Amino acid sequence: MLITRAEVYGAGLADLRIENGKITAIGRLARRPGEAVLDLQGGAALPGLNDHHIHLMAYAASLDSVACGPPAVHTPEQLIEALGSAHRNQDGWIRGIGYHQSVAGNIDCRWLDRHLPGIPIRVQHRSGRLWVVNGVGLKRLARGGVSGALPAHNEGRFYDQDQALGKLWGRTRPSVRAASDRLASYGVTGLTDLTPHNDNSAAAMFEGLRSNGSLLQAIRVGGMLRMSHRLTGPTKVHLHDSALPDFDGLCDLVKASHARRREVAMHCVTEAELVFALAAFRKAGARPGDRIEHASITPPTLLRQLRDLGLLVVTQPHFIAERGDAYRRDLGCAELGWLYRCHGFLDGGIALAGGSDAPFGHADPWRAMRAAVTRQTASGHILGQGECLTPEAALSLFLGALDAPHRPRRIAVGEVADLCLLDRPWRLARVRLDSACVAATIQNGNIIYNVVDGAEAHPAGNGRRNCRGLTEAATFCADGSER
Ligand SMILES: [Zn+2]
Repeated sequence: MLITRAEVYGAGLADLRIENGKITAIGRLARRPGEAVLDLQGGAALPGLNDHHIHLMAYAASLDSVACGPPAVHTPEQLIEALGSAHRNQDGWIRGIGYHQSVAGNIDCRWLDRHLPGIPIRVQHRSGRLWVVNGVGLKRLARGGVSGALPAHNEGRFYDQDQALGKLWGRTRPSVRAASDRLASYGVTGLTDLTPHNDNSAAAMFEGLRSNGSLLQAIRVGGMLRMSHRLTGPTKVHLHDSALPDFDGLCDLVKASHARRREVAMHCVTEAELVFALAAFRKAGARPGDRIEHASITPPTLLRQLRDLGLLVVTQPHFIAERGDAYRRDLGCAELGWLYRCHGFLDGGIALAGGSDAPFGHADPWRAMRAAVTRQTASGHILGQGECLTPEAALSLFLGALDAPHRPRRIAVGEVADLCLLDRPWRLARVRLDSACVAATIQNGNIIYNVVDGAEAHPAGNGRRNCRGLTEAATFCADGSER
């Protein structure tokens, strides 16, 4: 395949040849007989975007679910309306996601039964840790129980029971293809799934989805310590400050992971969790690639410790846009300044990468980039002005390799042909940072999304169509400056 008139990111206008999944030539290239051509007319060619923290199966399920929290739902009446008008999923449930207690308090099965009787309903808290199930749903779960027993719950409120509940909800697997098509339309070519209970069988499932064409992106699978599959990524540790694990046990786990040449990814959304994680890395030792997921609140002293330990942070700046107004209500002034920091990490010499955390955050990485640049909440307040990134630094959060998220990939001869192709040059795209600018996505040399010149998104895909034509072509010199 020949891509003509691409503005190669950081280089300038050129043609690209792709053969056998690799970029084999860059320059002014003549079309070979029979060679397929994609004419970008000056649109930017970026390395394909990698999402360094996602929960793919939960994201796929979320596409068949109803939003139950801000910004879509704010009041009890809106919640009742949203759930009452929702369609059942393939297993007959109404599945709500993204609930936050600011909507209707700590709802339980009685609350759901009072307002929405008769249909099996389950609602997930936006933290991902809590499911609330109504009476009909509880009966259904009890009937389907493998051992005849439901996991422990309080009035239909199940905490941290995802694994047990996953066996009971229903047998139908959500459509990974629809989720993968959606990600391809954002320019995403690689994923790291960091679901804590991932094991070898989960990795084998993802490999199967890759080989049967349901999953269009490359994938790395983080999860439990005992994994040996070839897709294995970091060992995931989910810390919760209300029930922190035994400290020595955690240090042993870090050492055991390192002994298997696996890095460790620790989930830290509170300051206490970060203090605990840093202490464990100090005692057990840190190795390159060890990472802190979220680092949601990072005061200056912890910033220095992160740097001294050489840890990588995988952040979600879009939570500022999606949840910022609630944070403004719930957090103190100092904490607001330390929230989902961006520039502060880079300035402090800490490697930084981005992940959507979908479905708990929006899966579109361009939203994360925009939030990293503007730091704006939904109501327009700016959180942590000093943490703003340039559009280029924001883009870099998603340019790292899956196995080295902080190391940006380049478009160069010999590199894997993972590309995010835009419908306009970078100088115009950088002021919008919008996935609507994505014109085509190429993964390992295969087109997985394409709306260049009105082409179909994907032969069998549900991809988003691009509304813009390729009208803003420009000519660039080799150094990227405009001619
Ligand atoms: Zn996560």
